[in-house]
Amino acid sequence: GSWWKDVQPAARDPILGVTEAFLADTHPSKMNVGVGAYRTDEGKPLVLECVRQAERHIAGSNFMEYLPMGGSVVFNDHSMKLAYGEEASVLADKRVAGIQALSGTGACRLFADFQRRFKPESHIFIPVPTWANHHNIWRDAHVPQHTFRYYDPVTKGLDFAGLMEDVKRAPEASVFLLHACAHNPTGVDPSPEQWKEISALFKEKNHFALFDMAYQGFASGDTNRDAQAIRIFLDDGHQVACAQSFAKNMGLYGQRVGCLSVVCDDTQQAVAVKSQLQQIARPMYSNPPLHGALIVSTILGDPDLKALWHTEVKGMADRIITMRELLKKNLVEAGSHLNWQHITDQIGMFCFSGLNPEQVDRLTSQFHIYLTRNGRISMAGINSNNVEYLANAIHEVTR
Ligand code: PLP
Repeated sequence: GSWWKDVQPAARDPILGVTEAFLADTHPSKMNVGVGAYRTDEGKPLVLECVRQAERHIAGSNFMEYLPMGGSVVFNDHSMKLAYGEEASVLADKRVAGIQALSGTGACRLFADFQRRFKPESHIFIPVPTWANHHNIWRDAHVPQHTFRYYDPVTKGLDFAGLMEDVKRAPEASVFLLHACAHNPTGVDPSPEQWKEISALFKEKNHFALFDMAYQGFASGDTNRDAQAIRIFLDDGHQVACAQSFAKNMGLYGQRVGCLSVVCDDTQQAVAVKSQLQQIARPMYSNPPLHGALIVSTILGDPDLKALWHTEVKGMADRIITMRELLKKNLVEAGSHLNWQHITDQIGMFCFSGLNPEQVDRLTSQFHIYLTRNGRISMAGINSNNVEYLANAIHEVTR
């Protein structure tokens, strides 16, 4: 008999399915605003100049050995400084356990497995909505999941009251997944004042915050500003964890370079936690890849390259912010009387447009514009050449 006769095809990934359909379309005006990857104003993928220069530094390196199980120590140190701040006392005190991870996804998965192993009674609370893969990650790590309110479809902004109520209602010492900035898919972040209230309530309830930070620098153009939620929690004395990705902010998508860090009581605990994180990595992939970590540590370890990176990441953020303004302006000029304020209020890679699935279907079938049915528009897919076409099409399907 056949070994795998009971295997049915897996459900198609909703985002990758959009790209497949886009590629199959031959219409000259077709647009892909589905996938969350940066594009230039010419609609092309971008390799940052700081990355090209770092690669020239690395070229000819005769180091092709395995990295340690926890990855590059130099990379981890740079990465944690970026997240927690150059002067963070938790770093000076050497009480953060940091391990290189397979980008943001791998960092989240390492944390989920760690949570399952060392806090088996704890559950994870995930915002509604969220990046769909969060659900898969904690499901496969066998951590029970709950959701908390986050987005209000009426205001197309934060449901702050609902969020606070759900945080209050959760059992003491629950683990919450928080998007550090540029919430995916909504583009809606709490204000600094709201983060302070959230942090205070977490203290009261003894909750734990895991910050998923896939877009540091990519949201506002300022890496410190995009890390403000983490800094607020640190100031309040929380022991947070942080899943970092260099996919978007350095354009290193395929390199799979990221970092998971966990703030501990003291150095001894940090050493123990790091050793256990390594034990989780070992049977899965032994040790992480080298090249991306070398690129990142070359950039962050060289003042000139780091300055260039800050300019380039701000350039990406600014282009997206400009496209938000242009899209809103073009909708008004197309004659739309609807309120599109949320397009410029939201931040980061995505605009949660408020288009319903039927309207999205019409965008695709009539105008060859591809996006997920939840109405999420990847701002990076918009440029000066296609923004008017998109605005006119959105106006047609919403009038
Ligand atoms: N977390 C969020 C919220 C994301 O949007 C993404 C990417 O889209 C990731 C994590 C992980 O991305 P990667 O694994 O490519 O770093």
